[in-house]
Amino acid sequence: MERYVIILVQIVTKLHNIMTETFATTELTTEDIKLIETAKSLVGPSEVPGGMIKEVGCALVTKKGSIYTGVSLHLCCGIGFCGEHSAIADMVSHSDETEINTIVSCGSKVMYPCGRCRELLQQIDKNNRENCFVIISNKGKVRLKDLLPGDWMESRG
Ligand SMILES: [Zn+2]
Repeated sequence: MERYVIILVQIVTKLHNIMTETFATTELTTEDIKLIETAKSLVGPSEVPGGMIKEVGCALVTKKGSIYTGVSLHLCCGIGFCGEHSAIADMVSHSDETEINTIVSCGSKVMYPCGRCRELLQQIDKNNRENCFVIISNKGKVRLKDLLPGDWMESRG
């Protein structure tokens, strides 16, 4: 009987973690806080004929320590893209780097990258899965792999 209670508690705990998206977060450094401020400084929603730009600002720091930034372009006809796309394009345009140490996106507050951007981070450099930290709040960051369980690229052979 006791064994079943333990198993039940484990299941309930696991379900609770899934439902509340609890991650083992890592504390932010002073540099991480500055990166959040950089991302926030880019936010300035502005209407354009096709939609809205600069609703989200993104800042990333590469493995070598360079900072690149971008903003969202939320436009009609599927033309737009996220701030993360902009920041990664900035990195690729101005360096030969693809490995990212830390990335953060902000609207009115720090926000998670969407699923497409999580995938982009992984596809631009395989090492980002293990090594790239994604800041998910004013208090913590997680590794990209924590936001992308199940490595489909690994299993495609
Ligand atoms: Zn996105």
